[in-house]
Parts: sequence; C-alpha cells; structure tokens
Amino acid sequence: MTSSNARRREPVLAYSGGVIDRASNHRSDPGWVDAILAADGARLIPMWRDQCIVSGEPAVPAMLAVTEAAAVLNTAAETVFLGLDDDGGIFAADLSPLRQSHAVEAAGGERVLDVRGFVGVLRYPEAALLGYARGILHWNRHHHYCGNCGSATRSGHGGHLRACQNDGCARLHFPRVEPAVIMLVENQGPPRKCLLARHKGSAAGSYSTLAGFVDVSESLEDAVRREVAEETGVPVGTVTYMASQGWPFPSGLMIGFRATATAETISVDGEEVLEARWFTRAELAERAASGGSLGREDSIDRYLLHSWLVEDS
Ligand SMILES: [Zn+2]
Repeated sequence: MTSSNARRREPVLAYSGGVIDRASNHRSDPGWVDAILAADGARLIPMWRDQCIVSGEPAVPAMLAVTEAAAVLNTAAETVFLGLDDDGGIFAADLSPLRQSHAVEAAGGERVLDVRGFVGVLRYPEAALLGYARGILHWNRHHHYCGNCGSATRSGHGGHLRACQNDGCARLHFPRVEPAVIMLVENQGPPRKCLLARHKGSAAGSYSTLAGFVDVSESLEDAVRREVAEETGVPVGTVTYMASQGWPFPSGLMIGFRATATAETISVDGEEVLEARWFTRAELAERAASGGSLGREDSIDRYLLHSWLVEDS
C-alpha cells in the first residue's frame, strides 16, 4: 500500500470507494477460495484484535505476499477472503489469539495501529479495504458460537458465513451491519440555519450533527424524525437521503440525511444531548475559519456540514 496526496480527488467519504471485486458469487466454493489463496499474486492483511500491523512513519500497514506469509497463515485463527484486484486475491488473517508482540513479529511489522489512525495518510479506498478486513474479522471472532443453540460454529464462504456444527440445528449465520442515521437538520429559513448539538462527554463549544441507531422495524425516515425529536424536541418534516458510509467500528453503516424542521423550539433531553442550538451559515463558517472543528476528517458528519455550508442560500 502507498500513501498518496490524491485522496481528495477520490470519494468524498472515508472508508468509501473500495475498488476490489468481492467475488461474492464465487466465495461459496471452497475450492475456488483455496485456489485463489494458492495462486500467484495472493496477498494477506494481518490484523491483531481490530488493529493493523504496521511499519514506518507515517505508518504503512502490512500486506504480505501469501508465499512469504507462512508464519501468519500457520498461526491465524481465521483467514478470510476479501476480494480480488488486478494482481490476485486479497485475504485478511486474524492473529488475535497471539500476544501482541508475537503477532507483530509473525507479520514482520513494528507495531499495531487502528484503521482510524490512517486518517490523512491513506487514500480512502485503501482505508476502505482495511476497514473491511477489520469488520469481517471482528464478526468472525465474535460469532464462534451459534446464537440459536450455543454450539460451535465453523467459518464458510471464505469467512462470510458461519455454520452451526450441531446437526440438529445447522443454522447459518451471516455478517450483520448495524444501520445508524445521521442528519443535518435545517430550519425553513430565511435565514437558513442548521441544528447542531453538544453530546454527552464532548467539550464545551463542541457541536456536531445528530445521529442514532435505527430501531427494529423502523424506516430510516422514521428513525431520523424520532432521534431528532428525542434529542432536541425539534419536529422534522421532509427527510432527504444524502450519502452513506460503511463504518466498520465494528459493524456500522452510517446513512446520512438532510432533514427540514417544521418548528425551531429546542428542548434537549439532557442525557445524550446536553445542549443544542441553531447556526447560520455565517456562524458556522466563522467557527471553521477560527479553527473550530467541523467533525473528524473521516466522518460523514463533516461531509454533511461542509456540503450544507458551501450551498447557495
Ligand atoms: Zn446452532
């Protein structure tokens, strides 16, 4: 993997723009997966308990030729097929059962680093691949037992399925993602203003967009309206989809919306949200210009804020 300054020309959201072919129509065939692992060009991303194994400064994540990764393959708890690129297959290997120093040594690295530690260093599609590796290994590691009968499960489909080994159950378990809505709420204006909140645990003056997990049997639009009402008391009318972002920390999917409030009176819940207020574009631009954060660089929160800020009024 290489770092590049070209990331700003690429997808606007981190962990997006993954360019590998996941070959989901082939990976159910264990013979096919084994052949890809044995073929020229096969590479492997070793990970240890959700973290990449890295070398150098800035950190470069390990990606090993399978032919030179016997120490990793022989000790990995799980080897999962991620997909194909022009050079061959890409796999992820989970070294979590090892002590950290042993995992780092087996992978020929120097230390470990979480995927989010590459913000500003890796191109977004490269970060997407690491996030994918992190997420699928995490899922395998946390589904060693059947949720139906408690028996052991075994990995299949290149690591994208786990099958219960109890013949009387034999349930198949597939990776799950956890959807969450994140929304920039604006008033009806003029002047147009957006609603930002200071969440529990955040510093004074630190505001961000509202977000929350989708409930069972709830539409995304209903989740937006519920979360905004619960956290700020503001009623929402129109809800419009903006963008989504895989968020493998560990298994989220952030779904971004623009929402229009039908009233501006705020009443915070005082638990998740400590404070909320309306910002005009001028106020938001001034915060950004004076060094105030508009969210982490890798977050969809920042994308929603910036896209609102640069729109014509
Ligand atoms: Zn079972």
